[in-house]
Amino acid sequence: MKIKLDRTVCDGFGICAKHAPDHFPLDDWGYASLAGDPVIAPTDEAAVTRALFDCPVHAITRLPEQWHGAGHAGTAAPETAQE
Ligand code: SF4
Repeated sequence: MKIKLDRTVCDGFGICAKHAPDHFPLDDWGYASLAGDPVIAPTDEAAVTRALFDCPVHAITRLPEQWHGAGHAGTAAPETAQE
């Protein structure tokens, strides 16, 4: 599984760090960041999934496995009609 953490949404509840501290270190103010590779090893998926579901503000999201970031296939803005 591959995940993303949106720090602009994180509200510093620290629940993710409780479930998966190696993946979600907290800064001095209690806000989480994503440590290391966004691709989660199968052995860590259960803890990271628990963190994803328990985050009160949904700051952690699961990405499609083929995700390569904005601007690549599958992320283009919808086409608009032109006349
Ligand atoms: S559980 Fe969500 S809101 Fe809380 S620290 Fe983690 S990412 Fe931020």
